[in-house]
Amino acid sequence: TINLGAGPSSLPTPVLLEAAQGIVDFGGSGMGLTELSHRSATFQRVLSAAEADLRSLLAVPDDYAVLFMQGGGTEQFSATALNLLAAHAVAHPDYVAQHPAGPPCDYAVSGSWTAKAMSEAKRLGANARAVFDARKLPGADGRFGAIPPVAEWQLSAAEEKPAMLYYCDNETVDGVEYASPGFPIAELPQAYRESVPLVADCSSNILSRPIDVAAHAIVFFGAQKNVGPAGVTVVIVRRSLIAEHPDKGVAHGGPRIPTTLVYKQHADNGSLYNTPPMFAIYASGLVFADLLRNRGGVTGAASRADMKSGAVYDVIASSNGLFQPTVRQADVRSRMNICFRVCGADGAPSEARETAFVARCKEAGIEQVKGHRSVGGIRTSLYNAVTPEQTLVLVDVMKAFVKEMQE
Ligand code: PLP
Repeated sequence: TINLGAGPSSLPTPVLLEAAQGIVDFGGSGMGLTELSHRSATFQRVLSAAEADLRSLLAVPDDYAVLFMQGGGTEQFSATALNLLAAHAVAHPDYVAQHPAGPPCDYAVSGSWTAKAMSEAKRLGANARAVFDARKLPGADGRFGAIPPVAEWQLSAAEEKPAMLYYCDNETVDGVEYASPGFPIAELPQAYRESVPLVADCSSNILSRPIDVAAHAIVFFGAQKNVGPAGVTVVIVRRSLIAEHPDKGVAHGGPRIPTTLVYKQHADNGSLYNTPPMFAIYASGLVFADLLRNRGGVTGAASRADMKSGAVYDVIASSNGLFQPTVRQADVRSRMNICFRVCGADGAPSEARETAFVARCKEAGIEQVKGHRSVGGIRTSLYNAVTPEQTLVLVDVMKAFVKEMQE
């Protein structure tokens, strides 16, 4: 079966086989990995190897901590805002007394997940602002599907000392991804770029192209799309931002943060402050090792992602309007989550044809291609574990469907 679901996704088959063995009998120890103590030397080796391989894959600088947390991407919607507001209060102790609304937290709302992250920050009392909301662009009709040029963004002034600029590199639901090479950091005004902590949610495209970690304060991702099984969320965070315990900021108007969300707590304890998601860390570590040693690292993954998504977009482009992308702006169409409608002879989306297309996919062994309920249509997700050969099966089904509809 070819799983093109948006997540949780598949893992490479060799990794699954090794993980299956490892949870029965890890390395001939007579015990499964998940039965070991999380504080044992054996698990420590697994954790350290996973961290070291991820550091190599993404060229993570030494002044960044790599944290293996729980709670999913959703927990990071809260944790990023809380930790950065706490760091802001420690760094600028008089700020909140002078500006009771607190420092601005800027959000680039390019899709459903940034919209959710921003609502959560607001709910927690942050002074959250949208630098743009793609649903409100001319011609958007309340839908995501474009990213305006940086010159049109309403960034807070650097003098206002924003606590962060938050973006999502690939919006999984809407199929919107920043055009390669990624978020346009170099186009931000210099004073802003040099002073405002940048936060990236890379849950659905991490390890599919290089990212300049050093230009970010925080890069986080849940494992269950491009890496491994659900349960672990990796947070890569600049150590200087977590050097002080956030409780220090409470006296200066900073938030009080639940212990399990405090980055410093996890950093000081090497991700073993409490019991970590051992299986998810183990399986993710196997994926990191496999990508690094057998699949050409992130550069290898990037060229496969370009090739796979390019092949599908080519069929869409040559389908005479049968397949129509839901993302209006061509250069931000995602390489990971390809969203499109199947249209009738009148050019309008046809649910009957979409049902038929899903059935054709199923006949070819392809599962989970129905779009997210908020977007409708079809979404084919081509994460790292989807092979070029599997993608060609999809391409063939699409080509055959074009023919069938023309008959
Ligand atoms: N961010 C992105 C880009 C996602 O795709 C998702 C999940 O689909 C999330 C955040 C939320 O992640 P979780 O379900 O792990 O909380």
